[in-house]
Amino acid sequence: KPLVVAIDGPSGSGKSSVSKEVARRLKLAYLDTGAMYRALTWYCLKTGVDLNDGAVVEQAAEDLPLEISTSPNHEYVAVGGVDITEDIREPRISSSVSAIATTMGARNELIRRQRELIDQHHHRMVVEGRDITTVVAPNAEIRMLLTASEEARLRRRGIQLGGTQSKEELAAQVIQRDAKDSTVVNFTRAADGVVTLDSSDLDFEQTVDTALEIVAK
Ligand code: C5P
Repeated sequence: KPLVVAIDGPSGSGKSSVSKEVARRLKLAYLDTGAMYRALTWYCLKTGVDLNDGAVVEQAAEDLPLEISTSPNHEYVAVGGVDITEDIREPRISSSVSAIATTMGARNELIRRQRELIDQHHHRMVVEGRDITTVVAPNAEIRMLLTASEEARLRRRGIQLGGTQSKEELAAQVIQRDAKDSTVVNFTRAADGVVTLDSSDLDFEQTVDTALEIVAK
């Protein structure tokens, strides 16, 4: 029986760890679509593609020799056989990824691949990102928006407000990335039929339990 659990939300909402745990508990496959945008960014930087040239970025998306794990127990992302699982989390990727994510041609290609992966797993998958509930899988059996207050999100990223200058700068970058991202895909408000799970005052276990309750309903 198909069970696609679509989970959208901003960075620092706890989306990845919650999505993975939900997949484990429900014995579903897992897809981190953000990792695909990050992998494309890595590839563009590697091959010297101008991130602001939409046509070239789109071509890079089509050429991208991507391999991505769909197991919630094993994180693995490779491009052209090179393991970039760690590299795609680097700040140089985080600060460039929005430029890629605002290229519609590249988005369409990654969306096509995401749908293909969902098909390959017979529609039994937790898929997390920014546009899963609205664009990638609007017909998913379960659709939720995982939110958290700005304060909670920054806290989870280990950034304390009112800290040193560099920490404040880091905080500003995270907020800026979300602001840029939300110009392409609106994940700040739940679309029709999407359940909002606000995790600001919940710990990890409570958030997972609430998500599982939403699935069970
Ligand atoms: O979730 P994560 O922070 O790893 O995502 C990295 C970036 O990928 C986001 O900041 C956003 O620009 C982009 N993204 C997107 N659509 C998705 C998932 C991620 O535009 N479904």
